[in-house]
Amino acid sequence: MREHSDIVIAGGGPVGTTLALLLADSDFSIQVLEARADLSRPAHRRTLALSYGSRLILERLGVWTGLSEVTPITTIHISQRGGLGMAWLRAEEEKLPALGYVLDYAELDAALHARLRDSNVSIVTGARVDEVRAASGYATMKVNRGSDITPVTARLAVVADGGDGSAQRISRDYDQHALIATVTAELAHNGCAYERFTSDGPAALLPQGDGFALVWTASPAQVQALLALPDAEFLEALHQHFGDRVGRFLNVAQRASFPLGLRYAARATRPHTVMIGNAAQMLHPVAGQGFNLGLRDAWELAARIRTSTRVALGSAAMLADYSSARRLDTRGGIFFTDFLVRVFSNDNSLLHHGRSIGLAALQMLPPVKRFVARRMIFGVRG
Ligand SMILES: Cc1cc2nc3c(=O)[nH]c(=O)nc-3n(C[C@H](O)[C@H](O)[C@H](O)COP(=O)(O)OP(=O)(O)OC[C@H]3O[C@@H](n4cnc5c(N)ncnc54)[C@H](O)[C@@H]3O)c2cc1C
Repeated sequence: MREHSDIVIAGGGPVGTTLALLLADSDFSIQVLEARADLSRPAHRRTLALSYGSRLILERLGVWTGLSEVTPITTIHISQRGGLGMAWLRAEEEKLPALGYVLDYAELDAALHARLRDSNVSIVTGARVDEVRAASGYATMKVNRGSDITPVTARLAVVADGGDGSAQRISRDYDQHALIATVTAELAHNGCAYERFTSDGPAALLPQGDGFALVWTASPAQVQALLALPDAEFLEALHQHFGDRVGRFLNVAQRASFPLGLRYAARATRPHTVMIGNAAQMLHPVAGQGFNLGLRDAWELAARIRTSTRVALGSAAMLADYSSARRLDTRGGIFFTDFLVRVFSNDNSLLHHGRSIGLAALQMLPPVKRFVARRMIFGVRG
């Protein structure tokens, strides 16, 4: 570990590693400090929903072709339980090979680290950044390596720790938990992702391999009860909840749950410091926006760094430029996700009719459909 470098990236998850790779051929000295001692153990067990725009970033890094277990989403079917109106978004209507992709977090993490090993950027494992402070012209960090605490400085500290740090955050608790699992069903998915809104919360079936990745949101008590059900009863409950679109459900594995909320930094920049990815914003998974926003953070920050001089790295002007480039996309992603969760997760009869009309409009008005599809694929600038 070096005591000083131009850029320190605190957190070698997918977003921090993507930034490191985007900057690998720059003239700046860069080190990634990663809390995990063993990179073969992923930080999380989860399925990621990648937009087509994120694919383009991973292609640019030469990571995409190394991923073997990627399932394309060619259609998204949106419906609400107990209501009229449904909508289909299709890749062919957007003239794209896919609207998005489903892949395992661990596989993406491993592919990014394999690429990083071939680059000039060094990654220090077992190095937890415990504190980041601004000093005159620098950021100073305390790096905990288990046996010692080492001070490290950088012109720019990029916090990409997934939100583990203590940065001040605005938060909203949705009083919902997500149950995640992998399931198989009678009918093939044919690349279709199903998004179903219910008064308990949204549920999604994402095509993955021969089966589906399930994200079922409900109250914490309901999720606990679902976790405790024997497999056969769970599969029957899922059928009741989801309807008959993919026939009966046959198998379930890897059931787990986590609480859902919205957390984001009031300001993602401080002098000589910037937060990106989940460190900057942690969203409800309903529209699969969180990870894609994080990759776009890395993309825009890399663009600002590449055109910066060494002296201007982390300066107020550079960080203000980055913040203004990200503001619309970040706020749009937060608003869109929060809106979906709050408007679609209740029994209010007026809203129920409004939702039916909204889904019918989405289906029947091509410009509206195109707007929503482009937003999900490329973010607010789509
Ligand atoms: C509970 C949950 C479920 C999710 N489910 C989905 C989903 O179904 N689909 C989807 O698309 N997205 C999902 N997301 C979002 C997705 O996981 C994140 O967008 C993505 O992981 C963000 O990547 P990241 O690199 O910013 O953070 P992370 O993936 O969290 O990586 C952070 C990295 O920093 C390291 N680290 C942590 N603290 C420190 C420190 N102090 N110093 C140094 N290193 C540190 C960690 O070991 C890790 O390697 C979910 C998020 C959460 C919280």
